[in-house]
Amino acid sequence: MRQAFICTNTRQAVNLVTEIGRSGEGEVWSTDRPGLCAKIYHAYKADRIRKLEVMIAHPPRDPNAHLNHISFAWPQSLLQDRHGAIVGFLMPQINASVQLLDVYNPQRRRKVLPGFNWLYLHTTAMNIASIMWAIHEAGYVVGDVKPQNILVDNRALPAIIDTDSFQVRHPETHEVFTCPVGSEGFTPVELLGQNLAIVEQTEVHDRFRLAVIIYLLLFGDFPFKGRWCGEGDSPEPNELLRLGYWPYAPNSLIQPGPLTIPLSVVHPAVEQCFRQCFTVGHTDPSQRPTAQDWLKVLQVAVAGLTVCRRVRNHYYRASLGKCYWCDRKAKLGVDVFPAAHPSQLAWPLRIVATMRQQQKRIQRQVAALPRPQIPLPAWVQTGLRSIANRPASFPGPHPLAGWQGFQGGIQPLRQWLANIDYRQGLKQLGLVTVITIAIGMGLVLLSRSQMNREDIQLTVVGVGLLVGLVMVCLLWLRLLKQQN
Ligand SMILES: [Zn+2]
Repeated sequence: MRQAFICTNTRQAVNLVTEIGRSGEGEVWSTDRPGLCAKIYHAYKADRIRKLEVMIAHPPRDPNAHLNHISFAWPQSLLQDRHGAIVGFLMPQINASVQLLDVYNPQRRRKVLPGFNWLYLHTTAMNIASIMWAIHEAGYVVGDVKPQNILVDNRALPAIIDTDSFQVRHPETHEVFTCPVGSEGFTPVELLGQNLAIVEQTEVHDRFRLAVIIYLLLFGDFPFKGRWCGEGDSPEPNELLRLGYWPYAPNSLIQPGPLTIPLSVVHPAVEQCFRQCFTVGHTDPSQRPTAQDWLKVLQVAVAGLTVCRRVRNHYYRASLGKCYWCDRKAKLGVDVFPAAHPSQLAWPLRIVATMRQQQKRIQRQVAALPRPQIPLPAWVQTGLRSIANRPASFPGPHPLAGWQGFQGGIQPLRQWLANIDYRQGLKQLGLVTVITIAIGMGLVLLSRSQMNREDIQLTVVGVGLLVGLVMVCLLWLRLLKQQN
């Protein structure tokens, strides 16, 4: 534990516990104050402290406060050392979240957040727009929008960190504290090549960054990127951005790549917003859709999504009429929203998925069995094959399949019950009954003279039981064999 600092608000001691992160300007530590972490700067800068004071006095409204969610790690109070010098600040700690890169990148998403489908991505985009709107409403500019600065939790609720890099304007004195940093791919054309430390930005610049973030979420890649159709090598990404070359700009020398998800798969209103931002806004930045505009169209887009009948993890625009992700999988062999593993699903879905998986596993095992060495009667073989080739109209898992009781000797029976084909089973039962009656009748006819009525009844029941027992034993042996 590091030395204690003093919180300037409460005058209480704050101890640093473990280091969470480190950058060029400071370190972030967890503290002994529940839910709060501290940023400690490497060096003292007077204007930075004044900026923090303005931020602490004028926090934006948190659009997700009602959900018990913290949407931005906003500075809460300054921290001073033993000598009274300001060394950093306290802010809420964002827990159980992943970086935006793990959300929009299909490969990373598969590992980190499987099951985070297009509905979640739309919702994340919508929530980022709503947070950005609240920030702009309060007069701030995010400035350094980048995937590393946006964390997302499993409810698709984002949180913006590194808020002390925001551009801050004092509401009364109008003094501006700039955002001196920017990230490649997120800098609007009019700011390219400028010294950000002295440029006063507006929310219009953030509108471009927001559109790039939303594009990343919905399409998994940057907009100013694609297959170069001009002469020579493709220019640098920033040059493409400067030229306004994105795949859907008129006269663009960038065309969609083979794996590019087409713009037309999103809701037409969302598509229009992208065109408005990247094409119209390229020459007239004030025409870029605002955060509020994005919030509205994304709400409409989310309402217009529907779930695929084949893959539960596929959400697509219902007005397309069919699942785009299934089409894409068929054409390209790529599925960016593969069905999630059962362990990654909510528990009711997990049970159903586990049962289905178990059935499929047994089916595979039975199908892979060698032929039995003792030739079984044809009707038993047919029955066994019917277990292996369960028809598609199978009525669903037997209730016993989910039963977690005995795991030992009763397991094969349990699995057999879970996989039994009811129609084939009925046929077999009928066959066994007919054979039993036939044998019984034969015996009765043969020994009619010597047997009384009770003897006949006993014989019929006995033969029936015997046949049934033999059949069960054969099946049991077969199932025991497939277990090994
Ligand atoms: Zn689908």
